[in-house]
Amino acid sequence: MSSYKGRITAKLVSNHYWCPALAWLKVHGPGIAWSPPHFTAEHARLIGYDDLIGSILRDAVEKLAQDCEITGIYREKRLWSSALRVSGSIDALVTCRDKNIIIEAKLRHPRRDDPAYVQAGVYMILAEHNDYRGVEAYIASPENIVKVNNTWIITALKEIRETHKTLSMNSPPPPKRPSITCRTCIYRRVCPYS
Ligand code: SF4
Repeated sequence: MSSYKGRITAKLVSNHYWCPALAWLKVHGPGIAWSPPHFTAEHARLIGYDDLIGSILRDAVEKLAQDCEITGIYREKRLWSSALRVSGSIDALVTCRDKNIIIEAKLRHPRRDDPAYVQAGVYMILAEHNDYRGVEAYIASPENIVKVNNTWIITALKEIRETHKTLSMNSPPPPKRPSITCRTCIYRRVCPYS
């Protein structure tokens, strides 16, 4: 049964940017048994994932907010926009007197057109919709920290609308990228385009 209730997440929007069929299958397709169904914060701690993300975020906050008057630091900050019907959980949000810094941690530095930039673009939109002003977004990895260009906001906005449209369809739309991306996709066994 479909789990689309007219609401989407930033992660789903980034999936849609990568492949609209992937977003559709994630919501309407069969459950995929090889992704852990109940991956909890405790599992993350046991395999050291949370520690690694934590250390990436710590380094990024130290570098990005060193000249700021910090008023708050939030992990897994959840934001929602009722106008766009999208939610997101930001890895770290640092609020300062004169600006607000979004930090998304990744284990590897993302490529130039990586869906991570769309996800960060959605977070910037969510922050604006929740009255955070002077928003800056960064993607931090063990290699470096990259500022997310504001043009990703436009892409993210378009992708939010497209994601809602795709999820209202009765079947998955065709992919936008070459089939080589299907090789590593966890939905390839159930996808009509693989
Ligand atoms: S198998 Fe290919 S076309 Fe199908 S959802 Fe995955 S990436 Fe998209």
